Amino acid sequence: MSKQIPVQKNEEIHVTFEDLTHDGAGVAKVDGYPIFVKQALPGETAAIKVINTKKNFGFGRLVHIEKESTERTNPPCPVFNRCGGCQLQHLSYEGQLAHKQKLVKETLARIGGLTDIPVHKTLGMEDPWRYRNKSQIPFGERNGKIEAGFYAERSHEIVDTDVCLIQGQDADKAMNLVKKLAEDYGIRAYDDKTHKGQLRHVVIRHAKTTDQLMIVLITKNDSIPNKKHLIRELREAFPNLASLAHNVNPKRTNVIFGDKTTTLWGEDVIYDEIDNIRFAISPRSFYQVNPAQTKVLYSKALEYAQLTGKENVIDAYCGIGTISLFLAKQAKQVYGVEVVPEAVTDAKENAKLNHLDNAEFFVGEAENVMPWWKAQGIEADVIVVDPPRKGCDESLLNTMVEMQPERIVYVSCNPATLARDLKILGEKGYATKEVQPVDMFPQTTHVECVVRLEKVY
Ligand code: SAH
Repeated sequence: MSKQIPVQKNEEIHVTFEDLTHDGAGVAKVDGYPIFVKQALPGETAAIKVINTKKNFGFGRLVHIEKESTERTNPPCPVFNRCGGCQLQHLSYEGQLAHKQKLVKETLARIGGLTDIPVHKTLGMEDPWRYRNKSQIPFGERNGKIEAGFYAERSHEIVDTDVCLIQGQDADKAMNLVKKLAEDYGIRAYDDKTHKGQLRHVVIRHAKTTDQLMIVLITKNDSIPNKKHLIRELREAFPNLASLAHNVNPKRTNVIFGDKTTTLWGEDVIYDEIDNIRFAISPRSFYQVNPAQTKVLYSKALEYAQLTGKENVIDAYCGIGTISLFLAKQAKQVYGVEVVPEAVTDAKENAKLNHLDNAEFFVGEAENVMPWWKAQGIEADVIVVDPPRKGCDESLLNTMVEMQPERIVYVSCNPATLARDLKILGEKGYATKEVQPVDMFPQTTHVECVVRLEKVY
């Protein structure tokens, strides 16, 4: 017999919130039936309207908060209620950090069965605003007028805005200027429903340590109307513009970048520094978006690697070689592998730039390249992995174990896949010793972790 759902759609009820989900919704229970409500916080009581019911859970909307959490703050962003970028601006920063620690702890226990592992306090920022060094801004049109901003939650509706409080001031300015120039020079924005129009995205990168700015215009085809004027206006507006690039993406896809990138003006790359290591960054290369916290993250990874200068280290998923070069300073030899060819070109260049000749980089999928390394007789004392959200391929986990390193350092941006992978590694002889959450993305629900594993058999 199926259980009855205790609430009805459109019903208004009074509830008390007891928890916060991984995507930032408050959880209230009615006779054990969970209801998820955006922007509600644990400890709050509120009147809510039930907006949807499923068999095992439902969704509601806040009508009126009757008792506010002491952790509640006023979200300063003008589009917080519509934009999908930040989910936690209504929660104090201390509250965000505590929530992320709890979330990591619970996820590791639930999915990974890891209950007795120290999960340290989340390392946060002093000033958790205006931290991003990269923005990817979709362009569109509404009633013939150009719009640009960020997507609404779980949608491709653009929330038009002229300010984003987690990106830099230059990014605000560039976003607004390109919007104006597109209007002035008759450049149509791309419409992903009809595949008409030209300008799809603008990607802005700012290197804090050098103040160099990169602007990348992504369009559907090669031609940009009034290109010369556009270049001139952008150069005049930004004395720190170092690279103006053009990427062409003709496909019907959500993927931002196409295959073809040319430099319209300036250099092909911009340079940034982390802890006195200099990095060249290409338009399409992955580079951590929060420079202040990147230093915290990498320092922790380095600490967990426990290098003495004698070790061979593998950095899988190495991007432009950032972690690799951090490690190379204290290791005998570092091998990096990365799937994006431009990133590997950057990584090689970066090793040269920093006179680190004990780091080698290879293009390919880590799960294919590492078995090949092993067959060549390459050994690893320490393996560092920093995979995308989907985590490590199981064959990669197996290869790591076969290589029998003393330690593994796992850097993860997704606690769920991290928990899954730590469980597998645990069953194969690598014990998780400690977990350090780092807040790379304040105001959002995302959390990064660095994990230290040791070989136990
Ligand atoms: N450690 C780097 C990059 C981490 S992001 C840094 O901190 O900057 C993850 C990287 O893994 C991305 O650069 C992505 O292109 C790469 N990647 C994704 N799948 C991969 C795979 N199967 N093998 C190797 N690299 C992969």
